[in-house]
This record gives sequence, C-alpha cells and structure tokens, in this order.
Amino acid sequence: MASKRDYYEILGVAREATQEEIKKAYRKLAVKFHPDKNPGNKEAEESFKELGEAYEALSDVDKRAAYDRYGHAAFTGGGGGGGFGGGGGFHDPMDLFSQVFGQAFGGGFEEFFGGGGGRKQKGGKQRGSDLRYDLEIPLEEAARGVEKELEIERNTPCDPCNSTGSKGNGGTRPCTTCGGRGVVARQAGIFIQQSTCPECRGAGETVSDPCSSCKGEGRVQRNSRIKIRIPAGVDTGTRLRSSGNGDAGVRGGAAGDLYVFLHVRDHDVFERDGSDLYCEVPLPFSTAALGGELKVPTLDGQSSIKVPAGTQGGTIFRVRDKGIVSLSNGRPGDLHVKLQVEVPTKLSSDQQDKLRAFSESIGEHNSPMQESFFAKARRFFDL
Ligand SMILES: [Zn+2]
Ligand SMILES: [Zn+2]
Repeated sequence: MASKRDYYEILGVAREATQEEIKKAYRKLAVKFHPDKNPGNKEAEESFKELGEAYEALSDVDKRAAYDRYGHAAFTGGGGGGGFGGGGGFHDPMDLFSQVFGQAFGGGFEEFFGGGGGRKQKGGKQRGSDLRYDLEIPLEEAARGVEKELEIERNTPCDPCNSTGSKGNGGTRPCTTCGGRGVVARQAGIFIQQSTCPECRGAGETVSDPCSSCKGEGRVQRNSRIKIRIPAGVDTGTRLRSSGNGDAGVRGGAAGDLYVFLHVRDHDVFERDGSDLYCEVPLPFSTAALGGELKVPTLDGQSSIKVPAGTQGGTIFRVRDKGIVSLSNGRPGDLHVKLQVEVPTKLSSDQQDKLRAFSESIGEHNSPMQESFFAKARRFFDL
C-alpha cells in the first residue's frame, strides 16, 4: 500500500484545508473524471475511484483524523484490528458521486437520489429508490403536450410472496449478524467504526423462509411500462415527477418516485425563448417593394402576414399567440418573424434589361436607407 497516493494530493488541497474546500475540490475533479465524460478511458476511471476514496476519507472528520495520524494504514486493517471497514470499506464511487451532487449525471435511466437505503422500518421494509429518466422530445410535442409511454427496468413488487419476501408465514426474525441493530461495529485502532450490517443491509431483520422469486427482498427487477402525461409548455430542464413509479420498496416498503428530465430537441425552423418563437422567412424582393401577402410557418401549420410596400430586409413581424403556451400561466407567446429579402440569382437577359431600365428610372433619390447611410458615412467616401 506504500504506492498509494496521498489523499490530500489527490484532491489537490492543503493538509489544513477546510471541509468546504475539500468538498469543492472533489466536486470539480469528480465532474472532470466522471466515466460518463470519459467513456472507455481506464485512467480516468482509476482517477475517479481514487478521488472518491480520498474524498470519502477526508470528508468524514473521524476518518480524516485517523488518516492524518496513521496514513493509509488507518483504512487497511494492519495489526489485526481491522481498519475502517477494510478494503471494501469505501462506497461505490458512483454512489458517492450521486450523494454529493444530489442527483445522477448522464443520459438514460439511472438511480436518482440513492433512495432510502438504510432507512430502517419495521418488518425490514425500506422505501424504494427514486429513479431518473432522461427523455428527449421534439418542439412540437413540448408545445402541445403529449402522453408518453416509458419503458424502464425497475424494481417492482414481487407477486408470489405479495411483496413480503417470505415463502410461507415465517415472517422475519432479528438478524443474527448484527443482533437486530442494523449496524455492525468494529474496533479500528483506537476507534470504533460502525457500518451498515452486510447481512440485513441495515434492516435489522432477515426473512426466515425467503421467497424464491425475490430472494426475500419482496421485489423483483423487470421491465415496466409507465405512462406519463407531459403538459404543454415544457422546456429543456423541466422535471416531471411520477409519484410511486420509482423502485418498489423492500418487503412492501413505499415505492420511490420517478423523475423525468425533459430535453427539447432543436428545431429546424424555430428558435425558442421562453414562450416566444423566432424564425426567419425569405421575402421576394418584388413583394418587399410592392407589398403583398406572405405565408409564414407556425408550429401548427401556417399563417399569413400582410407585408406593406417598401418593407426592408430584417423587419420583424409579430404573429400574436402563435408561440408556445406558458407552463406557469397558460398564456400563449408570440411568433416573431424576421424577413430576409431575397435577391434573385438567375435572371434571363430580358429580365436583366428590364431591371436595368427600372434602375435608371428610379434614380438616386428613392432609397431612404442609402440616403441616411451616406449622410452618416459621407467622410469615408470622400463625397
Ligand atoms: Zn443485520
Ligand atoms: Zn417474493
């Protein structure tokens, strides 16, 4: 174990760093080395594990004091006393990460708050974990609202034992490993270290005659389909809670919740800002000069706007109520249409002649933008 790196060095903090500084350093590095950010990178994975171990040791005042005094020997057992939980005494670095950040990272479906593991209830019941599901939807569905069926792998109540975890009526008995306390204590040098009982996982009780389908847990992993209703007006970052659709609890404990995190896909035509939509529409230059009707796209089809004669490129028209309804007050936003005057690129020689004649006829005094521009920029053109 002599090759193990110093925990302070791993976190890049001084030995007298405050708990806050240690946490800050961990957060920064954990994001950097997180496996989701470094897929397939073994080195980053190792760093992530190392970091978790260092943080776990230094964020706990007792463990930190022991480390300061004994170094890595404080956790590796050594002189027969058994250290802080031995080699397996550290948490899964991913669990630790979730705990510190309050939520899991990355896409897809994963455990969210870490659930109620260890929350002891009578009969060995434990609340199921909250789950996270990341869902991407198109802008149209975000605007109108939609019902979705999600397929997720989660813990569901075990039918054969009716979630009790027992085959017969044996029920539960106090755990023999921890004497029903849910925790086991170990002498670690001058300290006594308590950890969750590995036999009953903190429940304090074990099932006398475990159900063969669920091995006494009262729940089984399987695919389930869950319908959720997405209200109109959601946006990227909207979080929906589906109550009771997380993991089923242990032995009939309450189920966790399912959190659906929404991501709204970028749209080809529209950009969104809150409940307003923005788009750019080409305007034929003849219509710009003469005025006329112009068809513009909306999320549910099309609309038309009246373009007055002499409309300049860049002009923005507002089409009322053609935006997206606000999730908070139910009112629709507006659609803002920016016009882009389009200059024709393929003119026949006949058309070119006509345009030249037109250009001559219009002279120099019918271009309001040019006039004001040259008035301002005169000195650059030496006029
Ligand atoms: Zn136990
Ligand atoms: Zn069962």
